[in-house]
Amino acid sequence: MVSTDPEHIAISKSKGIVIDWKDGHASSYGLAYLRDNCPCATCTGAHGTPPAAKSTSSPFQMYQPSLKMVEVEAVGNYAIRIIWSDGHSTGIYSYEHFRKICPCVECAGRKGSAA
Ligand SMILES: [Zn+2]
Ligand SMILES: [Zn+2]
Repeated sequence: MVSTDPEHIAISKSKGIVIDWKDGHASSYGLAYLRDNCPCATCTGAHGTPPAAKSTSSPFQMYQPSLKMVEVEAVGNYAIRIIWSDGHSTGIYSYEHFRKICPCVECAGRKGSAA
């Protein structure tokens, strides 16, 4: 079973977050990726609406030059809340969520998206 306990978390408000997990795995998340994977109801479309455009939209949306984290705060000992430069602040990223969205090849392959 994969660990969802972070051993060490490195936060760069202009670059992203790197998490070393207790099971030895390391995950690196870029800003745009994190913003794209915001787990809040608005972004995930929890009300039955499809998630806010994030798939095959124009490349301009993927590279918002001014996007960065304004504030990062711990929520209890299970999550991190990120306040973005675009004003979005309702995303609470649990470590479980972080682990689930790990963008590395190994984890992406495990999800079955690759052949
Ligand atoms: Zn959100
Ligand atoms: Zn991974």
